[in-house]
Amino acid sequence: MQHLTVLGTGVLGSQIIFQAAYFGKDVVAYDINDEILAKLPERWEYLKPQYARDLGASPEDLAAAVSRIRATTDLADALAEAELVIEAVPENLEIKRDTWKRVGDLAPASTIFATNSSTLLPSDIAPSSGRPERFLALHFANEVWKNNTGEVMGHAGTDPEAFEAVAQFAEEIGMVPIRVLKEQPGYVLNSLLVPLLDAASDLLMRGVATPEDIDRTWRIATGAPLGPFQIFDVIGMMTPYMLNKDSDKPGAREFAEYLKREYIDKGYLGKGSGRGFYRYE
Ligand code: NAD
Repeated sequence: MQHLTVLGTGVLGSQIIFQAAYFGKDVVAYDINDEILAKLPERWEYLKPQYARDLGASPEDLAAAVSRIRATTDLADALAEAELVIEAVPENLEIKRDTWKRVGDLAPASTIFATNSSTLLPSDIAPSSGRPERFLALHFANEVWKNNTGEVMGHAGTDPEAFEAVAQFAEEIGMVPIRVLKEQPGYVLNSLLVPLLDAASDLLMRGVATPEDIDRTWRIATGAPLGPFQIFDVIGMMTPYMLNKDSDKPGAREFAEYLKREYIDKGYLGKGSGRGFYRYE
């Protein structure tokens, strides 16, 4: 599959776009308005030095990657040539279902559909697309070029050929495909990571220890390179906020309010914005 369309150009969407283009794919970036798309060149400038540092990318490779990306707010135009669509719109079931319904009405019959959703299951969204047998998940981890797992997960009705085509595509764009053999909320990665982050936010909200000390404990005692609050900074504040704000657990809602008040409202959106729990150069 050579022609990729990515829906949503936020934290993850922009990384998926750049990663696929860097590995030679032709990529169309779709988002809801021109102001958002106008920020993409800034995202490429943020990503380029990291590809140079972590993958040894040359200025020519990076310029070629950018030249393979086209941005549009016209969904029909975005889908006209798509062999694969990867969706990275906000983590909200209604937005996802609405987006996939529109995509299903417009995309060529052969197009394969993949969601990057972290918490929703393919079977929750697939029926909205009108072609559930070609629908599955391809889940990336933040900082896709170096945290390069690509978790491929279908639902019971996903065509095995579509599953394998996506696993192969993931490999072609520099990911290590992880074949998740049955539907699992959170895939492999988040089945491990979410309980860790929840425990860390609970320790913070109950005043047990500071973010710095919670992170230090985890790093020193396990040899992990990052502690949970450093991981929050990499993820960006919006995802934990969206996931926790309507939780039925009061502690989780309190954490969401805290993130909004102390970080999001001040523009401290995590590592990508230069500041989250920590400050970055
Ligand atoms: P984000 O808020 O940074 O970006 C979402 C983007 O979608 C924005 O650019 C927004 O303008 C756009 N958008 C909103 N409504 C849209 C619509 N109807 N159609 C098209 N675009 C629309 O979010 P994110 O962190 O990039 O997360 C996106 C998806 O990726 C979520 O499903 C999330 O679970 C998943 N994900 C996130 C991470 C992470 O670390 N941030 C990791 C893995 C997977």
